[in-house]
Amino acid sequence: MLDADGIISEMETYCAQNTRPAFPVVIIKGDGVWVEDLEGNRYLDMFSSFSTLNFGHRHPKIIAAMERQLKEITLTSRAFYNDKLGPFSKHVCEISGFDMVLPMTTGTEAIETAIKLARKWGYRKKGVKQNMAEIIVCENNYHGASTTIAGFSSDPRISQDYGPFSSGFKKIPFNNAEALEEAIRANTVAFLVEPIQAESGIIVPKQGYLKEVRQICSRNDVLLILDEIQTGLGRTGRLFAFQHEGIVPDILVLGKALGGGILPTSAVLAPREIMSLYTHGTHGSTFGGNPLACAVADAALSVIAEEGLVENARQMGEYLMHQLGKMKTGKVRELRGKGLLLALEIKKTAGNVRPLCEKLLKLGVLVKAKGDQTIRLAPPLIISKEQLDWAIQGIEQVLES
Ligand SMILES: *Cc1c(COP(=O)(O)O)cnc(C)c1O
Repeated sequence: MLDADGIISEMETYCAQNTRPAFPVVIIKGDGVWVEDLEGNRYLDMFSSFSTLNFGHRHPKIIAAMERQLKEITLTSRAFYNDKLGPFSKHVCEISGFDMVLPMTTGTEAIETAIKLARKWGYRKKGVKQNMAEIIVCENNYHGASTTIAGFSSDPRISQDYGPFSSGFKKIPFNNAEALEEAIRANTVAFLVEPIQAESGIIVPKQGYLKEVRQICSRNDVLLILDEIQTGLGRTGRLFAFQHEGIVPDILVLGKALGGGILPTSAVLAPREIMSLYTHGTHGSTFGGNPLACAVADAALSVIAEEGLVENARQMGEYLMHQLGKMKTGKVRELRGKGLLLALEIKKTAGNVRPLCEKLLKLGVLVKAKGDQTIRLAPPLIISKEQLDWAIQGIEQVLES
């Protein structure tokens, strides 16, 4: 059997180096909030695979739902009916308050689906001239990696050398409602935005931003598309981040945690009059709405309610923020975030954050740096106070040394 170095070198030889793992640690097991490496070291997962493992690793109820479904049928494609797509669709519509859902596979694919839907709405309902529809997006967004989406990224690593890109997107600063108002034209069909910009460092807009954005969109007949792929399903201490401001988007995009930490599963939700614009044969995905993913997602949604994960995320998030705020260290520049989607930013004078992440790893706390100064803290929403205390103690030890 290969050791860790052997496994890493095999992977680096045969697998594209489009991304680089943070540490030379090979994870081979996961259970709840814990993962284990090849040598049997255990780590508390404070990263959750980009805030995807809301239920922790291999949640027993979700695994059981998957195992049951594996014995029945896994794929029918949408060419035929299956018995799991209906219950899942009803469930996700009921908890979100939308009329209809379009099931997809990855987050990127769901964003593409929302973009196409908004454009179609623009041509069919708003009366925008063919091929003239414009969608406003924010600087420093992260909505995925397709050519269209990469084309409106502010990050050159994501966009450089991948053009030509789709036209029809206009970028404005995030957290600036005035900029939205000014950017809207007669051919603007939608504003696509994350309630909290997660990948650019957990950037929380000022209170009232989403509410203002909602009003501006409504007043100008522009659809508000919220990308809640990362913030949705309890992560921020509400089931959906838009609930913090008491608004409702026109189109809601979910992904990541929707697959229960097991399968890529995403969804676009919209009112019936908008979603009905997708008619037979006008948009599709081979794996979208497959019975295995639907059974898993349905179980995942049930777990959120049954185990009070939204409330736990809220309480544990406040606790984590409070405890970290009390640390006697001069190294912290800012603590920000909502629920269990937090960022700890270190002062430049305290150096790069990476050595701190390595020290935390040695103590058994798995975190990932964002840039040079920030550590993202996003444990599974099932985390207990005792487990969190253990992680906090490690963070304190590392930051106070
Ligand atoms: C992860 C993410 C995406 C892309 O999802 P994939 O499943 O990786 O395609 C889009 N938007 C946000 C906010 C994300 O966090």
